[in-house]
Amino acid sequence: MCPQTDGFNGNNETRRDRQAGGEFIRPKKSLGQNFLNDMRVVQDILCAAELGENDAVIEVGPGLGVMTEKLAEQAGLVAAVEIDSALIPALKKLEERFGNLAVINRDILKTDVRKDIIEGVFLPRGLGGSVKVVANLPYYITTPIVMKFLEENASDVDSLVIMVQKEVAERMIAPPGGKDYGAMTVTVNYFSEPEIMFTVPPHCFHPRPGVDSAVVRLKIRKEPPFELISREHFFLTVRAAFSQRRKTLTNALANAPYMNVTREKVAEILAGMGKDVMIRGERLSPAEFGQLSNLLIK
Ligand code: SAM
Repeated sequence: MCPQTDGFNGNNETRRDRQAGGEFIRPKKSLGQNFLNDMRVVQDILCAAELGENDAVIEVGPGLGVMTEKLAEQAGLVAAVEIDSALIPALKKLEERFGNLAVINRDILKTDVRKDIIEGVFLPRGLGGSVKVVANLPYYITTPIVMKFLEENASDVDSLVIMVQKEVAERMIAPPGGKDYGAMTVTVNYFSEPEIMFTVPPHCFHPRPGVDSAVVRLKIRKEPPFELISREHFFLTVRAAFSQRRKTLTNALANAPYMNVTREKVAEILAGMGKDVMIRGERLSPAEFGQLSNLLIK
């Protein structure tokens, strides 16, 4: 059983004013640096990741290495990708202690995860288990990082256990019809089964973020949840539907030049699906978007 983080007063073992490599590190707001200062949260994240001793972990943004150290103790292999060169000396010291840890000083968004990490780091070291992403993400680029792993590496990774803003976590699990349901919900649910594991209050970080946080687990689906004729067309349909979410689905799709479809055609297909032709996109489930995309192609 994993311990629960919600609602505790997180000042048990604080890492505030932590030194890195002998130097005081001033957190950079521009890089989303809100360092975890409560080891119980770290423990809860590791527990949610269900790490096996043969698993390989990709940690995005190890920061001062608080979680990296625990990951290296529990997993078979760890690749920690950090953009901030100022944090690298401290992380390199950790690398000297743990033979299974590779510190990579790079922008995760400019990293070819399969080539540079899985083939470049894990396979030569004898990857024996699953690849898991475990990270306290920089909030200013949460969506591009999540989308990158889902769209480029869904066949490479087993799960993502990530700290995100609570409202982003709520968007990932939102049911159709509400204001939180959008393109991100459909994409996340197509590739994975998302689950909010626990919430984390601001005082568990240094400095404190202005928002509540949540740890979500995205279990990557082994098989797609529904058949698509074209994944590219499906995501274009979803994008068009939500880019004008106040409009009816018929108008939103017909107004998107890249969809190349008339109002009449969309209305005819929706009627065939048993839907009101005045429906808005936010009312369609991911599977219904799949059906719509397939019928538009046919
Ligand atoms: N893991 C640490 C912790 O929990 O205390 C730090 C988490 S902090 C929220 C986000 C980390 O991501 C920072 O160390 C930041 O420098 C790093 N980061 C920001 N943008 C990045 C990028 N594009 N690629 C890799 N790391 C990045």
